[in-house]
Amino acid sequence: MATASAGTAGPHGSLNGWRHWRAWPANVASLWRRSLRFRTILITLALTALAVAIACIWMALAIQNDLFGSRLRQVQGYAQRATTAAQTTLDNAAVQGDGLQIQNLMTAVRTTLAQQASSDIIAAFRIGPPSPNAPQNFTTDPRFESIISDQLRTQVRENGDQQWWQSVALPSIGGTVPGIVVGQQLQVPEVGGYELYLAYDLGDASQTLGFVVGTLWIVGVGLVLLISGIAWFVLRSVTTPIGQAAETSAKLAAGELNVRLPVRGEDELATLGRSFNAMADSIESQIKELADLSLVQQRFVSDVSHELRTPLTTIRLAADMINDQRDEFDPATARAAELLNAQVQRFETLLTDLLEISRYDAGSVQLELEATSLAHLAEDVIASMQQLADQHGTDVRLVAPGGYSPVEMDPRRVRRVVRNLLGNAIEHGEGRPIVVTVDSDQQAVALGVRDYGLGMTPQDVERVFDRFWRADPSRTRTIGGTGLGLSIALGDARLHGGELAVWSELGRGSHFVLTLPRQGTRLTVPSPIPADPGDDSVAAVEALGLTQPIEVARADPARSAADAAQPARGGAK
Ligand code: ADP
Repeated sequence: MATASAGTAGPHGSLNGWRHWRAWPANVASLWRRSLRFRTILITLALTALAVAIACIWMALAIQNDLFGSRLRQVQGYAQRATTAAQTTLDNAAVQGDGLQIQNLMTAVRTTLAQQASSDIIAAFRIGPPSPNAPQNFTTDPRFESIISDQLRTQVRENGDQQWWQSVALPSIGGTVPGIVVGQQLQVPEVGGYELYLAYDLGDASQTLGFVVGTLWIVGVGLVLLISGIAWFVLRSVTTPIGQAAETSAKLAAGELNVRLPVRGEDELATLGRSFNAMADSIESQIKELADLSLVQQRFVSDVSHELRTPLTTIRLAADMINDQRDEFDPATARAAELLNAQVQRFETLLTDLLEISRYDAGSVQLELEATSLAHLAEDVIASMQQLADQHGTDVRLVAPGGYSPVEMDPRRVRRVVRNLLGNAIEHGEGRPIVVTVDSDQQAVALGVRDYGLGMTPQDVERVFDRFWRADPSRTRTIGGTGLGLSIALGDARLHGGELAVWSELGRGSHFVLTLPRQGTRLTVPSPIPADPGDDSVAAVEALGLTQPIEVARADPARSAADAAQPARGGAK
């Protein structure tokens, strides 16, 4: 099946879906596809954010390590200094087995530690079995002992001369703070080894780190926004001219040949603009040349047709005269006279069509509008072509559920269109019934000519309105068509603001539908008669019989009151 239509096109709807959040993913996807600027900004934003995030995390980690490392070295230094001072105090003391002296010595050591260690949290635990002379374990904070891990204690106990450390969470007011515990052995004379632990608060370092990380993130986000902003401005300076070029080339493609791109400077965009303008100049001049040539050709066709008219009239008169007297000639001469007459008639038709086409090309066709009933016009045309239909044994029926009320149209031209459509249907209808349908709605009136003859291939349908085109030259012709009929009919339909649509299928026949708007403006709605006739088959039509009128059941609420008042009629015979 193939359908083609020549006429008006419907308007496109615009998309305004940002108000509904559900439509956002689709809108963003469509923006991603359509906008170079949006795509580039989004990619720049994502890549910059990724790079800045990696840089920030790396810097935060590096600063954290450095802060911790330097603080660790510092507290290790403090602890070492304090331990050495305490050990020196212990080593220099002469206690000679006196428990009290040892106890006093330990108190002195505690004071030294408190002064030298730069820490308030100090603890010492005796290594080895309890001894009557040995001073008591001591700690400045009772919670301190539970913080020190067994692992650290074992290390301190087993490697007396080495300093050990461990990260801990130190209890503080309202929670804990990060800290370091440094442990080392202390040798008390005559008593033996003590584990000495000093705790240091890293709260300051952690605060500094928090401040640095916070600053890093603020700077990072600012950097991302700044780079995106810069990318936006830079891109705008590139994409605006590209967008302008795209818009201008679309206008040029749509036929606005005088559009040009503004050219500024010497850069690549200026070169693009200059090349585009040169191309537009060249296209414009070539199209002008072609238009001039076409004008010359139109004038030539028009002039030749006019010039041929006078001699043709004379030839026609002579041919008529000879044809009238053919009974007096011998059979061969009589046949020649008949042929001459037929061909002169064809010549005349061709010349008339050529003149009409050249008038369309020159744009000098004027409609002579008159309120006309399309249904009655169709009836007249069918009656006038009855003889030709009879010659082909074709039954032509009129089914007119609407289209009686008068509509402004040029009756001479519309009659010519209907004659052409009906002539073609009779010519190619294989003697099968032809149904002429007339119907209307509030916006338009339409006339369809349905035949059940040879039909056409989709390729033929594509070309059916082309000038001088005929489907198959071998098809038998009786009314000697010129191949211009349908292109003139299309010109007539368009001149009325209407359309001429065709449906055709090989073996199923054809359906041509002429639709004219009621208001004399352009058609914006579908025709009251669809070109595709659906599944009406030849068999179904033949089953109706030749004398039965075909009722087309239509329920059209839009039909005008005037039309509705008229009875459906069938059979032009
Ligand atoms: P012509 O003067 O040859 O009829 P048209 O422009 O009216 O010129 O038609 C062009 C061609 O379209 C015809 O030659 C014919 O091949 C094809 N055609 C037109 N109407 C029909 C139809 N109803 N069925 C089949 N073919 C058709």
